Amino acid sequence: MSTLRFKVVEEAYSRKAVPVELPNERPSEYFGKYVFNRAQMYKYLDLETYKALVYAIDNKEPLSRALADSVAAGMKRWAMDNGARHYSHWFHPLTDGTAEKHDGFIEHNGKGGVVEEFSGKLLVQQEPDASSFPNGGIRNTFEARGYSAWDISSPAFILDKTLCIPTIFISYTGESLDYKTPLLRAINAVDKAGAAVARYFDKNVKHVITYLGWEQEYFLVDKALYAARPDLVLTGRTLMGHESAKNQQLEDHYFGAIPSRVEAFMLELELECHKLGIPAKTRHNEVAPNQFELAPVYEEANLANDHNLLLMSLISEVANRHNFQVLLHEKPFAGVNGSGKHNNWSLGTDTGKQLFSPGKTPKDNLQFITFLANVMAAVRRHNGLLKASISSATNEHRLGANEAPPAIISMFLGQQISEVIDRLLNADEDDEISFSSKEGMKLKNVTQIPELLLDNTDRNRTSPFAFTGNRFEFRAIGSSANCASAMIALNAAVADQLARFRQVVDARIANGEEKEKAILKEVKALIRENRDIQFDGNGYSDEWKEEAARRGLDCEASVPKIFDAYLSKESIEMFNNTGVFNEVELRARNEVKWEMYTKKVQIEARVLGDLAINHVIPVATRYQSLLLDNVMKIKAIFEGEASDIAQQEKETIKKIAGHMYVITDEVEKMVEARKAANKITNEREKAIQYHDTVKPCMDVIRYHIDKLELMVDNEMWPLPKYRELLFIR
Ligand code: ADP
Ligand code: MG
Repeated sequence: MSTLRFKVVEEAYSRKAVPVELPNERPSEYFGKYVFNRAQMYKYLDLETYKALVYAIDNKEPLSRALADSVAAGMKRWAMDNGARHYSHWFHPLTDGTAEKHDGFIEHNGKGGVVEEFSGKLLVQQEPDASSFPNGGIRNTFEARGYSAWDISSPAFILDKTLCIPTIFISYTGESLDYKTPLLRAINAVDKAGAAVARYFDKNVKHVITYLGWEQEYFLVDKALYAARPDLVLTGRTLMGHESAKNQQLEDHYFGAIPSRVEAFMLELELECHKLGIPAKTRHNEVAPNQFELAPVYEEANLANDHNLLLMSLISEVANRHNFQVLLHEKPFAGVNGSGKHNNWSLGTDTGKQLFSPGKTPKDNLQFITFLANVMAAVRRHNGLLKASISSATNEHRLGANEAPPAIISMFLGQQISEVIDRLLNADEDDEISFSSKEGMKLKNVTQIPELLLDNTDRNRTSPFAFTGNRFEFRAIGSSANCASAMIALNAAVADQLARFRQVVDARIANGEEKEKAILKEVKALIRENRDIQFDGNGYSDEWKEEAARRGLDCEASVPKIFDAYLSKESIEMFNNTGVFNEVELRARNEVKWEMYTKKVQIEARVLGDLAINHVIPVATRYQSLLLDNVMKIKAIFEGEASDIAQQEKETIKKIAGHMYVITDEVEKMVEARKAANKITNEREKAIQYHDTVKPCMDVIRYHIDKLELMVDNEMWPLPKYRELLFIR
């Protein structure tokens, strides 16, 4: 009898909402309380230091050692005033998530006591003892150490009484070992190339800024139930479990009332977010039961990404206080929707122009179409790479299933933009642009872009990359991923394309063409060449798969092979041109990706094997033996008639035996497949082998376990069932 399961279910169902104490101040008063922002800098630094630091931040200049010392002194005072006792370089290693190494502020004072110490040296450069972070061999080849240094564009903050300093993490020879370094490089590349193009339209533009607004989806599970599921604890998802009779088919969860326990949790989460300067704004239920979403107001991409990573740590902590476990895994439950992290992405100038917003004047609209066409070309050329940037062992469970993302990257533009583009392409060369001294420039076909577009609700939910009125929504990102991966690939690809564009148009202008005509000509060429990336239909349909293959879009669905896109000639060239990655970095990082893939599948396979053999088979055997007992008793009492009476039970016994046989057999096969794969030394080959030979066994095992779950006496079943896990009371 599975008393544990009933005990934890009872515990979970009897819980009440945990009360949250709200501060008396308004959000605007405690917003950023634990952030060393400009207001705090002003308060804790002398005026000269403050000015020099702000100048360095605004102009992306490095900190001098002398400046670092006085910044460090002020930062330490601020941190200690706010209760911090430790400091930590906070960085984004190639595993998803963040890493921290905490040190106390104390040092010997030479008199047998201690002083609180925090020098500029610690602020600008730290050598973490981090030789066990994955680095794809870079550090072994070059130097056994990585260095971290404060990314001054990201403010320091206090988390759990620790001063956290957002840092980049690089090898001794300068190769990036993290996500932040290449993200900063990609943002800079778009800044440079984008500003050069934006200056065609406004010569005052100095910078192009990348914005990111993420929407984080997640599941909540009661802690007691979670603890009773070893698969959830060890892999973040359920490796078995029959669908609940009711799940999301009534569509009653989405935008439904938020359960009070969850509401209390959200309230506290938002409070903590705001104190840390994360502008959390939207919260709602998602499609699946127990699935929710949080979205902040968008910010500059680097900061937004820091905030997303910070949120991913914070959310688990706060959930704990409310007796929940957060599941950030992309597919914790089969049969209901998984979780993604839409990345709303846009570009804007330092003169305040949103580059993906159609404007009021013909010039604005030419600029809009110019940037749109360049994004189109970048996404077309690098569609395989963009897919690789969102791929992982965990996101693979969503990829290609009937929920975002399809395993093919395409772009949704919507009816209005399509019409504008059609008109533009169909117009005569001379017809489309005219100049008159009175009205200035006229663009026949791009003047009229309806303003309605701005709150475009014509959303295609099946598109992995959709234009949504003033931004693009890259929807294929996984809920547990570091957004940087996608943002690096996208921004680098767009930067490279914009640089090409500027080159071509400049050459035409140098040949005596009028600027606007030269621009429009290239815009039209780009759209013509790349429009086959546009797909506004149903991204989940089989027809689209065939059509996409005809168009030559990347249709690979196996994640280890998808990663190859990082090492294609075009990708290497593009990353090189933009200075985002050199080839050594790309190769090293792919090694890490393949290794991570293998390890994740390996862990899951082990856990599943263990659960199958040690949990499920024994229970099924016990139940089978009960049935056998019963058949014997029937036979003893009814003698001749017994064969009829016991027929039903005999069938059940045979079915159970059949499932048990397949499970045991398949677990053995899976172990053998693992052994064979483990002998392979090439990381890519190994990952492919895991994908091709280990994963399929897992599907078979699960199928038969789930069948047993339906047959075996409910009271005996050891693991909390989907219907118990998925509906918070
Ligand atoms: P939906 O679920 O309908 O897509 P949400 O309100 O949940 O919308 O999320 C929209 C996200 O897009 C928010 O994070 C918002 O700040 C962000 N966003 C809005 N405008 C822009 C923009 N111009 N650039 C980047 N992100 C934006
Ligand atoms: Mg969205």
